[in-house]
Amino acid sequence: MSAATPAVRRLDAWDAARLRDLRDEHGSPLYVLDLDRVRENYRRMAGAFPDAEIRYAAKANTLGRVLSTLGEAGAGIECASAGEVARALDALDGGTDGAVADPGARVQYTAVNPPAGDLDTVVDLWREYPDLTVTVGAEDTLDRLEARGYDGRLCVRVNPGVGAGHHEKVSTGADAKFGVPYGLATDLLADAADRGFDVVGVHAHAGSGISGDDLAAHRELVARMGDLARDAPVPLEFVDVGGGFGVPYRPDEAPLDLDAVADATREALGDVDARLAVEPGRYLVADAGVLLADVNTVKETPETTVVGVDAGMTTLLRPAMYDAYHAVRNLAPDAGERGTVAQTVTGPICESADVFCTDRDLPAPARGDTLALGNAGAYGYEMASQYNSRPRPATVTLDDGAATLARRRETVADVTRLEE
Ligand SMILES: *Cc1c(COP(=O)(O)O)cnc(C)c1O
Repeated sequence: MSAATPAVRRLDAWDAARLRDLRDEHGSPLYVLDLDRVRENYRRMAGAFPDAEIRYAAKANTLGRVLSTLGEAGAGIECASAGEVARALDALDGGTDGAVADPGARVQYTAVNPPAGDLDTVVDLWREYPDLTVTVGAEDTLDRLEARGYDGRLCVRVNPGVGAGHHEKVSTGADAKFGVPYGLATDLLADAADRGFDVVGVHAHAGSGISGDDLAAHRELVARMGDLARDAPVPLEFVDVGGGFGVPYRPDEAPLDLDAVADATREALGDVDARLAVEPGRYLVADAGVLLADVNTVKETPETTVVGVDAGMTTLLRPAMYDAYHAVRNLAPDAGERGTVAQTVTGPICESADVFCTDRDLPAPARGDTLALGNAGAYGYEMASQYNSRPRPATVTLDDGAATLARRRETVADVTRLEE
């Protein structure tokens, strides 16, 4: 085993001077993503689950350099749309940096209420990459695949009837939208095999939020998947128990004990004649990323000090969408010598939800300071929009310590580019 890496990288562990330099060179707001940390997170996951297949859930961060970095490290890629499948294949096939043998075998497409165009595209890609796997969550999707001539690798997504999640919007296991009802899964597996699909696995994902305090829901999901695999009417290659491995967003939250999760997973699964697969998204990329934003406005009000920054809910949506907590750090060289002030950090978007934090004790702010928001590597840029005609920010990657502009900042011309 390589030397253990810390289970979490806190916002304080980032080098403030380096981040300020990156902001000076590339402007604000700016996403910074450390690929070395992505590799460390992957190695820790692979170390805890040495026999499992690790499939990165691409929707957490689809930057080509992230996909190729994880592909080179050995991960598969779990995709939520035809667009993600195309980007994953491109990244694994050397479209960006890396090339792996048989990229198709690394790619799973999880079809959730798939639009017709997604199925068309994925079936076309399958003709080129016949080893890719399609996961279906409805019998209806089988009919639609069959109509397109697909008879490749097929996995059935099950709704396990248990949900985990830090917010109701990310708790999917108990939600009828995802997967076939548990009690119907065995029949659907048999039906799919009869119809000539190459049935290879079963899958469940219970939403995001496996936490060390409460592994009960995770155990229950995994145990149900073990039962399903033992009862399966056809031999299975894998049992995929999804992602949702939590990361500590708050400074006082302990990191997930991955070995404990892995032990609980193996124990709950029991003996199955199939390989375990897991689909971490957030865990691999969240603490590898920070968002930098400049302070534009400092406003004293009777209730609080309002700090206006140049990033908003269009840059990082999670606080507005999930009430998510993100650590905030003032990167000013003298921040440590300033007194702290309770402050509300807000963006420039005309929505009252456009607030990163309220009542947070941080160094007294000054216009021109740069703030860093922590754990911004997962579901940050991915959920960014151009609402209010705000061009999306640039992304800089660090790779072996070296900084590269991985994706340029949009301009207003990019916002209007598609107008006729
Ligand atoms: C979103 C998603 C994941 C990853 O969830 P994380 O919380 O980021 O680990 C894994 N599998 C499926 C099917 C998903 O939709």
